[in-house]
Amino acid sequence: MIKMIAFDADDTLWENEVLYIKIQEQFVDILSPYGNKEEIFDHLLETETKNVPLYGYGIKSFGLSLIETAITTSKQQLPSAKIAEILDMIRYMLTYKLAVYEGVEETLQHLSKQYPLLMITKGDLLDQDLKVERSGLRKYFKGIEIVATKEESTYQEIMQRYQVAPQHFMMVGNSLRSDVLPVIALGGTGVYYENSVSWAHEHEIDPAHQVLTYQSIHHLTEVVALVETLNNQS
Ligand SMILES: [Mg+2]
Repeated sequence: MIKMIAFDADDTLWENEVLYIKIQEQFVDILSPYGNKEEIFDHLLETETKNVPLYGYGIKSFGLSLIETAITTSKQQLPSAKIAEILDMIRYMLTYKLAVYEGVEETLQHLSKQYPLLMITKGDLLDQDLKVERSGLRKYFKGIEIVATKEESTYQEIMQRYQVAPQHFMMVGNSLRSDVLPVIALGGTGVYYENSVSWAHEHEIDPAHQVLTYQSIHHLTEVVALVETLNNQS
């Protein structure tokens, strides 16, 4: 019996990765005198992955990785005017108009009448909070949890705090690694929203989680029927 439903935010409720892709394209253009596209992309992902334990997730962390990649790729030859361009790109990311996916608001509105809803999103506290504000979706959630990482222990702590047992907890998100598998491993219901855009970093899955089976949806509106079906079965 599902009693509480949690949602990831980036690329689940609103567009996010497309913005990163657009910014990365601009970044590659800036660095084109110093290397080819693939090398720069690989180097950036490597730098981001290396920096996450110290900088965490989020736009400012991404921005620092862009600058670091620019400096190393250009062997410190990139003019500071170009660094200023990168800083402008980061500022744009912090303020652009957020696009909530179609059907999301209606789905949350409907579900929030029957279930307490949580938003569980990974990233920088300020970035994510500003995004929640710009989305206009805050009113549908009992709680907004902005976390540094999404591991089993993260979900365990949240469930304990909201006093919900794993068998009554559902989490919906576009990352198997972060949103779906850790919740299933704890005995909860994990629903994979198969959004075609996802950050490469999210493709690496904990080997202990590879055997787990999960529910899939292709549109967020499907959550309504899925919860109903699951709750009628139990
Ligand atoms: Mg996501």
